[in-house]
Amino acid sequence: MSTDYDVVIVGGGPAGSSAASYLAKAGMSVAVFEGANFPRPHVGESLVPATTRVLLETGAMPKIEAAGFPRKYGAAWTSSMPRNVSGSATTTFTHELGTADILFSERDQDGVDRDYTFHVDRSKFDLILLKHAESLGAKVFQGVRAMRVDFSDPDQVTLNVKVGPKEIDVTAKMVIDASGRQTLLGRQLGLKEPDPVFDQYAIHGWFEGLDRSAVANSPEKVDYIYIHFLPISDTWVWQIPITDTVTSIGVVTQKSQFAKANMDREKFFWSFLESRPDLHEALQKTTQVKDFTVEADYSYAMTELTGDRFVLLGDAARFVDPIFSSGVSVALNSARLACADIVRANETGDFSKAAFAGYEKKIRSGVRNWYQFISVYYRLNILFTTFVADPRYRLDVVRLLQGDVYDGDEPEVLRVMRETVLAVENDPTHLWHSYLGTLRAPVLAPTL
Ligand SMILES: Cc1cc2nc3c(=O)[nH]c(=O)nc-3n(C[C@H](O)[C@H](O)[C@H](O)COP(=O)(O)OP(=O)(O)OC[C@H]3O[C@@H](n4cnc5c(N)ncnc54)[C@H](O)[C@@H]3O)c2cc1C
Repeated sequence: MSTDYDVVIVGGGPAGSSAASYLAKAGMSVAVFEGANFPRPHVGESLVPATTRVLLETGAMPKIEAAGFPRKYGAAWTSSMPRNVSGSATTTFTHELGTADILFSERDQDGVDRDYTFHVDRSKFDLILLKHAESLGAKVFQGVRAMRVDFSDPDQVTLNVKVGPKEIDVTAKMVIDASGRQTLLGRQLGLKEPDPVFDQYAIHGWFEGLDRSAVANSPEKVDYIYIHFLPISDTWVWQIPITDTVTSIGVVTQKSQFAKANMDREKFFWSFLESRPDLHEALQKTTQVKDFTVEADYSYAMTELTGDRFVLLGDAARFVDPIFSSGVSVALNSARLACADIVRANETGDFSKAAFAGYEKKIRSGVRNWYQFISVYYRLNILFTTFVADPRYRLDVVRLLQGDVYDGDEPEVLRVMRETVLAVENDPTHLWHSYLGTLRAPVLAPTL
């Protein structure tokens, strides 16, 4: 049976555009339907090195390098360090959390040829990737919203799209859902499950003129991503360089904390930041150049990631929490892994769920590693900084922070972290018992 395209893709974010690039490069006919008109703003500005492999394989890397995004060589964590009168740093009640940082160059990673990744203005980054897919032969339709997918014909899928008031049907051998948190197919097919533990809330904006050195661990680390712990449970701040002078700042907390605070979002942002006087003071001297945006209800999973004639990629498949900047790398690597199966399916003509088993297995095990790392972090974040500082586990932690989670065995550090959490939970006299966070994820058995 002849169809309009081999593959139709819903969504032209990093997952959809990278999948389109892989498939177009493999000689398949592919169309991307993107509801927005690019460039459009998007949260998710700090990458991890696992994105490099995909940017190299799709051929997008030279364009990303040419765009001049700030290079990201590492990541750092800080806790409360108010300055004393003489200007030297003194630690206070969060002393035990300490500070930590890692360099990506500490560990080699398959398919990654450089010791940095990027912080990106997503409106520019996503546009480059989408244009790149187009340059490889993918058909890209912007301002065209996908409404639903009809699976009733066993030999093809029909995607219904809306252009202004007009609805059009497009046929293909299969559909890729890369619709991000809109989760088009997850909702249509009833696959979506809210996360049983995480229900986070984030508020973020851009600030011009932040003196990054005032809050950096040391001068040569000013352009790392910073995660600043706040002395409020389950709450932290991201600091991401967008340009030489513009910095993205976001506060992440439990949604219930925001509700409890009972104040407008701007007040909430500043009042939470006040708990870190060093950061608050530095930010007060800046000019806000992008309004606050709120993100909520973003922690969920899907009961199925593939099915007959469909796969889910990136946020359309799952999202949990931004603490380790994993989202874009999951989006890109889900495209990489799924497209290997899709190209094979096109050769054999078998687009059944079984044809995508390789993808489903790898992405599930990669995302399980992320989930466990995130769960341990929230349950006992003192463990995180302790393990970063422990030479026995440091490289395993670096591996996770590089996003190198899809191949090979589960990193040993995750097992040790889980066991430590259990030991601390079961021993009220343990020194760390009072540091247990309130979010108790099923670290031993995340199901989805
Ligand atoms: C608070 C917060 C902070 C984050 N920080 C980071 C970070 O620092 N680093 C990181 O890597 N990740 C981060 N993320 C995650 C990151 O934003 C996502 O994981 C990433 O954008 C996923 O890419 P995607 O291509 O799957 O989806 P998206 O980037 O969301 O792209 C989906 C696209 O689909 C389009 N679309 C949706 N529905 C339809 C439809 N029906 N028809 C047509 N088009 C449609 C949308 O317009 C959109 O362009 C963060 C997330 C949150 C919530």
